Amino acid sequence: MSKKIRKKKPVKVKRRLQVKHKKSVKQTNNQRPPAKKIIVNIKKLLSLEEAIKYVTDLAGEKGLEIFKYLIIHGPIEENLLARKLNFEKANAIRKFLYRLYNKNLVSYVKKKRGYKAWYTYYWSANPERLVFLIQKEYEDEINQAKKAIDLNKVSDFYLCETCNRRYDMKEALENDFRCVNCNSVLVHMDAAEVVGEKRNRIDFLNEKIKKLSQVIKAK
Ligand SMILES: [Zn+2]
Repeated sequence: MSKKIRKKKPVKVKRRLQVKHKKSVKQTNNQRPPAKKIIVNIKKLLSLEEAIKYVTDLAGEKGLEIFKYLIIHGPIEENLLARKLNFEKANAIRKFLYRLYNKNLVSYVKKKRGYKAWYTYYWSANPERLVFLIQKEYEDEINQAKKAIDLNKVSDFYLCETCNRRYDMKEALENDFRCVNCNSVLVHMDAAEVVGEKRNRIDFLNEKIKKLSQVIKAK
């Protein structure tokens, strides 16, 4: 009798702990994604010229190929990924993965293989991050354009087109309409014209951001 009781008790405790553990894992899984995860329409994203350009500028044609593969196939082990994309070794693919990783466009999970101190890397892509990065670039440029508009509102000015240095009327006159840095002839800039150009650029970029936001399926 006493043996039976002893045997049963630990089993019950174990089960309860397991259930509790499972529940807590499920809860965090359910809570996290809606807060952070943005779902992206992959087809739309990869059809955007600026998306392709961003990844290619960052990590080259090979980097783009890797990024696309990860988007489509999901998390994959590094050596397998290298083989699938015809890289000789995992070392050769890592260079490109790190470039993407620098901008958080891909991430990895490290898993221990067997009993040895040997790790396996599973890579996955973060396409929503690409949307964010491009949007950020557009927004930065819009802010710069707005600043330029504020500056140009004041009056016409003179510009050295070589070093981009600005001179107001008085400074330009004092220096015989030449740049103090490089001696280039200063160019008269029509404030209204510059403002108009900047405004057009802002409209253009806002339109781009609108189009980019259509890539996002859900937040
Ligand atoms: Zn100059």
